[in-house]
Order: sequence, then C-alpha cells, then structure tokens
Amino acid sequence: MATPIGNLADITHRALEVLAGVDRIFCEDTRVSGKMLSRFGLSTPLQTYHDHNAGRIRPELMARLADGQSLALISDAGTPLINDPGYKLVKACVAAGHFVTAIPGANAPLTALILSALPCDRFYYHGFLSAKTTARERELAGLVQVPGSLIFLESPKRLASCLAHMTEVLGADRPAAVARELTKLYEDVRRGKLAELAAHYTTTGPPKGEIVIVVGPAPAPVYAETDITALLKDAVARSGVKAAAAEIAALTGLNKRDLYAKAILLRNKND
Ligand code: SAM
Repeated sequence: MATPIGNLADITHRALEVLAGVDRIFCEDTRVSGKMLSRFGLSTPLQTYHDHNAGRIRPELMARLADGQSLALISDAGTPLINDPGYKLVKACVAAGHFVTAIPGANAPLTALILSALPCDRFYYHGFLSAKTTARERELAGLVQVPGSLIFLESPKRLASCLAHMTEVLGADRPAAVARELTKLYEDVRRGKLAELAAHYTTTGPPKGEIVIVVGPAPAPVYAETDITALLKDAVARSGVKAAAAEIAALTGLNKRDLYAKAILLRNKND
C-alpha cells in the first residue's frame, strides 16, 4: 500500500481504512512508519520487512496469512516494490493463492515524470544507476536508443556527476528535468538540456533533499528516402499495407497516411 512521499495529506482514505483494519503492518523501519501511524492516530502492530531480513521473515508472514490474518506491506515512503521491498513477497502470496491487492497512491518517479514536461506516453523506469563509473556508463549506453522518457533516482551527492555522465552518453542536448523534494515545502523542478543541468549542479554543488531525474526520449533517427522504401517494402511483404504503414510510422515518426499511400504504390508495383 502506498504512503506519502513527503506531504502527509497525500495518504488516501482507503489506505487509512486498511492500515487501521489489518492485523499487522509490515514496514521497512518501525520508527519511520510508527511516526506516520501516530500522526494518523493509528496503533496497528508494526513489524519490519526489509532487504536484510525479508528471506527470514517471509515464511512467518506467509504462515500468518495461511492462519487467516490480514496483513499490509508499506515502505518508508511511496509505493512498495518500486525500488523498495515486496516483489518476492507478492510473488509468494500469488503462488500460495492468497488474496493480494494494492492501494495506489504517492510515487516519486511518476510524480517527477508528470512534472518534467517531457513525454509521458512511453517511459522507462531505471531506478538508481550504479555508483561505479564504468558500470554506470554501460547502463546508460544501453538506454541511448530507448524511444521513451527515462526515469532515474539519484542521491544529491552524485547528482552533478550523474548528469555529466548522462550528457556524455545520452547527448548534451537531450531535454531533462531534475525533480527535488516532491510534494514537500521546497518542491523544485529544474528543466533544461542535460549539459545545462550538469553545469548548474556542478556550480551550485549538491542540492538538499530527494531527487528524481527524468530525461527526454531518444530523438527519432532520420531515415533516408531509400531506407524508408526498403523498410516499407519489407513490412508490406510481412504484414500487408495497413499494418506496414502503422509499423513504419511508429518506427520513423513519419505520417501514417503518407506511408499508407506509399505502401499501396509499392504493393501495386510488385503485383
Ligand atoms: N517506492 C518509492 C516511491 O514510490 O516513490 C521510491 C523509493 S526509493 C528507495 C527512494 C528514492 O525515491 C529517493 O532516494 C529519491 O530518489 C526518490 N524520492 C522519494 N521521495 C521523493 C521526493 N519526495 N522527491 C523526490 N524524490 C523522491
């Protein structure tokens, strides 16, 4: 179940109902979640379920479910499983045939995407990049051609060097946004080209707070007319005129209607 990422007012009515009604709440840190529960006047028992004890606790948790108890899983903030514990637990519960549901709510990566003013129709969520330079560059190199916005989590300390690596590998002109302290008092979204953002944070030093970086999609490749004809011919032979026009429009960003007309000419030529 999701909990707020800063602003407590972002808890949902359903989350409060469920937190009050379950037999036990599993959380990453009982001090963090205890504070949140007491702000809402709740005293449901809390127990830890985090990266370091999950393997040991999961059997106990599964036994409680088999016993008929109702349990909730929360993380320190935001939506569990998204860079937080819970995936193996959900998998185990589903495999055991237990009823599992999700209470949606706050989520830092999606909030950042929405505020980035970058395309939201397709996106790729990466979470944290590796802290090691070579591994980080390799990870970024694998994302250069992704045809959607890219979402990363980053620490303030590594923000400037991360943006510098992105500038090198993804391209200086790629539009991007650094979203900081979302839903909190000092919420701030800085938008610009990767090179501009890298220069800004190199100058200012590490900002305060929690951070999400969003990078705009890879620019559509520019195709020569002969390439388009070859691609279209191949697609028409495989899937027919209509599907070919849609496929090549998605690939090249060219107008589907124009491609359809061209595909008909190509087909007629071959008939
Ligand atoms: N599951 C969480 C969620 O749904 O938002 C994400 C957990 S991840 C371990 C924590 C990271 O998310 C932080 O280090 C930061 O990069 C990002 N984050 C969390 N809260 C944030 C906020 N209020 N503003 C910006 N980034 C935030």
